[in-house]
Amino acid sequence: MKKTLILLLLSVLPVFASEELQDVGISKYAVLEVLKDNTPLREKADEFATRVTHLFKDAVLFADKQNDKYYRVELKDGKYVWVNKKHVEVQAVIPEKRFDNIEKVSFKEEHDRYIAKINTPSKSAFIFKEDGNNLDFTLFDNRFDPTEAEVKNKENNFKFANLISNEFNLEYQGYTPLFGYIADRGEKGYVLTIKKSPKINKKRPLKHIKIVLDPGHGGDEKGAVAFNMEEKTINLQISKKLKSELKRRGAKVYMTRTKDKKVGLYDRTAFARQKDADILLSIHQNSLPNPKDVYKKHGVGTYYYNKQAEPLARNIKDSLKEATGFMDDGVNYASFALTRPTLPVSVLVECGYIIDSYEANYISNEKNQKIIAKAIAKGVENYLTETFGNN
Ligand SMILES: [Zn+2]
Repeated sequence: MKKTLILLLLSVLPVFASEELQDVGISKYAVLEVLKDNTPLREKADEFATRVTHLFKDAVLFADKQNDKYYRVELKDGKYVWVNKKHVEVQAVIPEKRFDNIEKVSFKEEHDRYIAKINTPSKSAFIFKEDGNNLDFTLFDNRFDPTEAEVKNKENNFKFANLISNEFNLEYQGYTPLFGYIADRGEKGYVLTIKKSPKINKKRPLKHIKIVLDPGHGGDEKGAVAFNMEEKTINLQISKKLKSELKRRGAKVYMTRTKDKKVGLYDRTAFARQKDADILLSIHQNSLPNPKDVYKKHGVGTYYYNKQAEPLARNIKDSLKEATGFMDDGVNYASFALTRPTLPVSVLVECGYIIDSYEANYISNEKNQKIIAKAIAKGVENYLTETFGNN
């Protein structure tokens, strides 16, 4: 009886504690400083909730409420998101939000990209939103007055929007589909990069395209293991063959690992950025928590997170499925470290299921690995021709 009561209390108390919102202090807002890069802001106070955006180390947020694990951050009037307490430090408690002023916005066109520099002392959160060929950039807690701020070389395909609010909006109108974009934090503010879509030679679509291949796992991270095979080994074998195949078709290719070694997830995406790649492909073999489910679910599947990467994921899946004859495991929307980058265009490929005896046998065979490599390369070519071939 007593034991039941304690168990009951234990199971009920944490729920109360986490749902009850508390004030952040005697003043309305707590000023939070973000402790590490890639810190997610989430839609709900839950580690599995949708990520709204990611923050740089040193970013500044204003929280108005808290529970035991999360701060509620007010992005603008009535728009709330959540950040885990372990990723931030309270700097001060203040009665009113601080807004920064945008001092200057300057634009530059290079042969393969547009660059917009937004000078502000602010370290606020920002969000990108893809809308077809267009891209919206919103920087919160910033005020912008184009009659006060300096604006240099504005291109016609950029538009300032929402001028009276406490956020800065820049809209990019693309005449062709998006091909990678990112915001970096520099000395004086934010630097937006929007890649132009490539000019495609239909006979040789991969010419001049830069691709980073990421063989999943490595070292003591074996990935999935079945039938005496380790996923990390098959990932590397296929990636090496894919590298030759892509190079043969005119692409420039780099690999996040060429040996059996451990590489951090964000080191992989940083490497792709550092190489200024157009496309990032992470190569994996799938499994399931319960191997018995493989009777229902197996085959070729691809994963993307940003809309711009969906046609790439779809073309690779279609091409791989046709070449291998495997079951269709879909073009899946998923938030992974290797699908989240917006520059390069990023897709994760699950060639087959290592826990399925037929597929495991197929993907570990050298000749079939060449078929897989060819099919992925063909899928990338199809994506480029389909998406950008008529530019
Ligand atoms: Zn894997």
